[in-house]
Amino acid sequence: MPAVNIALQSRPHRDASVDHAIQAIVAGASTAATCTTDLAAGPWDFDIRPGYGPGSSMGDVIPTGAPRQGELPREYREASESELAERIRAAKATLGDRVVVLGHFYQREEVVTHADYVGDSFQLANAALEHPDAEAIVFCGVHFMAETADLLSRPEQAVILPNLAAGCSMADMADIDQVEECWEQLAEVYGDLDAPDAEGRVPVVPVTYMNSSAAIKGFVGRHGGIVCTSSNARTVLEWAFARGRRVLFFPDQHLGRNTAKAMGVPLEQMPMWNPRKPLGGSDAATLEDARVILWHGFCSVHRRFTVDQITAARAEHPGVRVIVHPECPMEVVDAADEAGSTDYIRKAIEAATEPTTFAIGTEVNLVQRLAAQHPQHEIFCLDPVVCPCSTMYRIHPGYLAWVLEALVAGERPNRITVPADVAEPARLALERMLAAKPPAAPASHGENAS
Ligand code: SF4
Repeated sequence: MPAVNIALQSRPHRDASVDHAIQAIVAGASTAATCTTDLAAGPWDFDIRPGYGPGSSMGDVIPTGAPRQGELPREYREASESELAERIRAAKATLGDRVVVLGHFYQREEVVTHADYVGDSFQLANAALEHPDAEAIVFCGVHFMAETADLLSRPEQAVILPNLAAGCSMADMADIDQVEECWEQLAEVYGDLDAPDAEGRVPVVPVTYMNSSAAIKGFVGRHGGIVCTSSNARTVLEWAFARGRRVLFFPDQHLGRNTAKAMGVPLEQMPMWNPRKPLGGSDAATLEDARVILWHGFCSVHRRFTVDQITAARAEHPGVRVIVHPECPMEVVDAADEAGSTDYIRKAIEAATEPTTFAIGTEVNLVQRLAAQHPQHEIFCLDPVVCPCSTMYRIHPGYLAWVLEALVAGERPNRITVPADVAEPARLALERMLAAKPPAAPASHGENAS
């Protein structure tokens, strides 16, 4: 199979490896800073410990039932970078078209370099559709992404997550039991949630970001709701407002707030739902007046970006173009020049014809790769501290080599399967998203206007 990367049209001219940068910091060969020196260790050192491991999510609370990875065989833990790369190449060559390897934008360079496709989660799930005859889809991303690929792939295809501990702290913040409990409480406030008003709109339409478990997508599908991505959040909210008086948006409060604010929804009509408090910490009058109820979730990678970082970037680099992801807090999005999805950021840099300085507010692996691919521009991460996504970090080349060689041996390790009773409504929510029409006018502040 030819290597067809969605994002990588040319190989980097500089070292795109965040891992090498972290090793240099820990060895004292670089004056840059990292959020934890644990990042220089292999992720297998953390598989038996509680928590998400080192990186941006290390302070987040991990659910007790979160999948754990069994011990990686010693031969993969002790192999050198070059040995692992050679074993991965050899296993892929043996498997040929029987396997497709997908690499998320935020994945380490040492893994991305072996991917047949590189992109965001939905692009990658769709890329897998182009290979209906592949027996295995190895998803180098996090758990909810592998679930989405399983939803969209054929039943006999095995979706493999190289490290089961690669979850997503944001997705884990919307637990299905808490969401069901929230729905029951909303029914006490609004009455029958299936009863349309005189204009044909129900009291509340649930909307979930792609970054959520299949169980949440299934919940949304069962209750007339829809999935969104960071690229189409505005289109999806318009779809939902046409069918409901208000929206319950999970799990990312920031994407929900930034998108709804750009659509003109006042902040006072966007109460937060904290699942640990009665009525989410709100009251019946506030919920009655609400237009968007925001689940109390966030991405710990994008929460690291601040207005102070933007101020410093503008002071040090006059004329800098600041682009941030809409998972960043509202103040950061407001202070940036543009906000948009990972694909928006990539395309904005590719479209710049003059040498430009870009300060980017998204995960450092993507930023460093873009910097290496576009040496004519100066591109840097707004966060001066090197702190990658904790859970993406769990996919190390050692795990990729292990699953590929197991596939060569006829095994199917770490298969991710969504149960049929969840998969059916989850697919319905995804189909509604694909059928939703884009807004009539183009967005003015990034492609998703957030
Ligand atoms: S960057 Fe944020 S949303 Fe994406 S996988 Fe990591 S924790 Fe989850």
